[in-house]
Amino acid sequence: MDCKTCCTETGNKATSNGDQTTVVLISPYDLGRQPFALAEPAALLSKAGCKVVCIDLSQQKLDVLLPDEADVVFIHLGMLTATRIAMEALPRITRRLPNARIAVFGWYAPINESLMRSSGVDAVFGGESDEDMVDYVTSTMAETDHPARHEALVNLGRIDFAVPERSGLPRLDSYAKLVLPDGNEQVMGFTESTRGCKHVCRHCPVVPVYQGRFRAVPAAIVLADIDQQVEQGAEHISFGDPDFLNGPGHAMRIIEAMHSKHPALSWDAVIKIEHLLKHADLLPELKASGCILITTAVESVDDHTLLQLDKGHSAADFKRVVTIMRDAGLALAPTFVPFTPWTTLENYCELIDAMVELKLIQSISPVQLSLRLLIPEGSRLLELPRESTCITSHKPASLGYEWTHPDPAVDVLQQQIHDFVASAETSGTDRLAIFNGVRDIAYAAAGKKVDAVSEASLGKAVPTHSEAWYCCAEPTDEQLGSF
Ligand code: SF4
Repeated sequence: MDCKTCCTETGNKATSNGDQTTVVLISPYDLGRQPFALAEPAALLSKAGCKVVCIDLSQQKLDVLLPDEADVVFIHLGMLTATRIAMEALPRITRRLPNARIAVFGWYAPINESLMRSSGVDAVFGGESDEDMVDYVTSTMAETDHPARHEALVNLGRIDFAVPERSGLPRLDSYAKLVLPDGNEQVMGFTESTRGCKHVCRHCPVVPVYQGRFRAVPAAIVLADIDQQVEQGAEHISFGDPDFLNGPGHAMRIIEAMHSKHPALSWDAVIKIEHLLKHADLLPELKASGCILITTAVESVDDHTLLQLDKGHSAADFKRVVTIMRDAGLALAPTFVPFTPWTTLENYCELIDAMVELKLIQSISPVQLSLRLLIPEGSRLLELPRESTCITSHKPASLGYEWTHPDPAVDVLQQQIHDFVASAETSGTDRLAIFNGVRDIAYAAAGKKVDAVSEASLGKAVPTHSEAWYCCAEPTDEQLGSF
């Protein structure tokens, strides 16, 4: 259905732009990347005749860009940080646009449905929601009811994608850059070739929505999206799929076509340990097609913890992947959740030692050494007994559950490491000094002394994104200042 047609036909609802429906799409935060999650519905809504205003709060001020009138406002809740920022933004939006319907979409929308509705949200969408969002706008203008107003509408069916509409977003070169080991920076584009995931790791926010399923974005759409970002200056493409090898045939078709059209373009993606092992034969092709970095969620080198998280790999698998990636000449950026209810002072030291043994110090962002497990609403971790997850309370306003480690020394250690890393990074301390500082603190907590590791253990520097790749419960003051 066509927003404009619908509005014109009914003609009984004031809109901000004559007879054209005005829809605002807001991304609170998307790891410093130009959000695909806004560009895709923007394309469908524009095709349906709506006037679309995109606002990216990581780059733009809400108060400046919010139009004086709008019919519908959609907010993308793609991660915990974004959801916290959205909670701060909601009262301002409802004050400025008292007649607009407000809706939320993204991984964190359905699981926080009641909180969102109590904050003035009219409709909640999850999964492959882009077409449902157009339908909702149409029903709003026709003043008919829509199921997403009563219950979160999670759609896992196939939808008709359009080439993402990126012209309403800030310029690509204002987003996070690819930082090469020599310090040079490249303009980074961002797209998605699949959404959802076929795995069901217990701590993962994708799982409550996609329930172990994924959907491919048609290759022609992905390639056209890459083309338009190359035209905007992208020198590197970051694939934001939860796991790039959920559909290896689809992924390989895309990178082969991309490389043949843009041979100078490099790319990176997230691939799980299990897939890197299973598809090790593809690694030379990934490298030959311009892949320069694979991020992989290792989480822990403690097999008991990995079992609790249902990660589908062991510590030994991770070590094998480090070897095969080196053999293939591909850079690996492992990520971790080192502080969980199953962390001990000893196994934290083992994690630190594994980084030395595997020469991964340069490959791991120091903040990764301080992260604490988040248990959001809907998490599969809630399937575990409470005595295992150490959950102490449910805090809807914090968007999840609080847990306290049974050994208070582990929580103290986490805070010490967090404070140390934050202050060392602010003061520009080098990677080796930060790592040795963390190691000293960890060993002291375990009642041991340790000698500093030397530069020989650093390993090779790898490309990184200029914006850190992790989700935190508390947005920064800077992020909250985006109103
Ligand atoms: S493989 Fe990654 S995206 Fe998929 S469920 Fe596990 S953590 Fe989530």
